[in-house]
Amino acid sequence: MNAVRKSVSEALRDAARQFEKTSDTARLDAELIMAHRLGVSRSQMLLTRMDVACPKGFLDDCNRRMAHEPVAYILGEQEFFGLPFKVGPGVLIPRSDSEVLVETALELTGDAGRVLDLGTGSGALLLAFLANRPRWVGVGADQSMGALEYASQNAQVLGLSERTSWPQLDWREAGLAQVPGPFDLILCNPPYVEAGADLVRDVEDYEPASALFAGSDGLDDYRILIPAVGALMQEGGVAIFEIGATQADAVCALAQEQGFSPEIRNDLANRPRAVVLR
Ligand code: GLN
Repeated sequence: MNAVRKSVSEALRDAARQFEKTSDTARLDAELIMAHRLGVSRSQMLLTRMDVACPKGFLDDCNRRMAHEPVAYILGEQEFFGLPFKVGPGVLIPRSDSEVLVETALELTGDAGRVLDLGTGSGALLLAFLANRPRWVGVGADQSMGALEYASQNAQVLGLSERTSWPQLDWREAGLAQVPGPFDLILCNPPYVEAGADLVRDVEDYEPASALFAGSDGLDDYRILIPAVGALMQEGGVAIFEIGATQADAVCALAQEQGFSPEIRNDLANRPRAVVLR
C-alpha cells in the first residue's frame, strides 16, 4: 500500500488505529499531527481538507508517536493558558495542571510588580502571568541553557522580551544567594518526582530527567528552595510552588518550619497542586 496516496481522512483513520496501542488519545494525536503537517488548524482540517492527499511527512511523524514521543515535541509546540509555547527535547512540556499556579498568582497580586520564576523551562508560568499583567516585569531562571533558549524565544513570540530576563541558575549548586531580589511574586514548578518512580514512557523516555526527579522522596528541591525564598520576597509578597498530588502535607510542613502559613490550591482534577506561601 502506498501511504502517500491515501486521503487525509483514510490516513487519520489508520494512524488513530495504530496509536491506540500506545496512546489514550489516539484519534486526537493523529488529528493534531496531521493538521500541523498540513499547516492549518485542526478545525480547518476537519472542515476542508479531509479529501486531499495525505502530506508526505505524516508517516514519519506517526512513527515518532508510535515510539512514544510526546505529540508536543512532534509539533514543536504546546498550548498553555491559551498561549502557544515552543517546546522540544530538553524542555519540560507545560501541563494544564500547572495553570492553577498562574490563576492563583493573578488572583493574589496587584497591578504592578516584579516576578521570579524558578526553573522556568519553556517560560510557561512566567510568560502566561506577564501576558495578563502588562505592568509587571519578570525574571525566569533555569539551570538548563537549552530551556532558557526556548523561554526567550517564547517571550519574543509573545511580545514579552522587553519585560523579561533569563539568567542561568543551578540552585542545587549555588542556592539563591546570587538572585537579585526582592520580588512581589515567586513562581516555581521544581522537579518533584521520586527517583525511580514509574512514569509513562512518553515522559520517562523523552522529557528531561533534570526537570522531573528530585531525590528519593521527590522533595530535594523544596528543601533547598523553601528556606531560601523568604529572603527574596518583598514585604507582602507571595510565593507559589507546584507540588505532586501526594506532597501537600510534606511541603506544608517544610513551609511551616520556615514560619510560613501555607495554603493549598487544587488543579483541574481537584488534586492538591500548588502551595501558596505568604
Ligand atoms: N507533573 C509532572 C509529571 O507528572 C512532573 C513535573 C515536575 O516534576 N515538576 O510528569
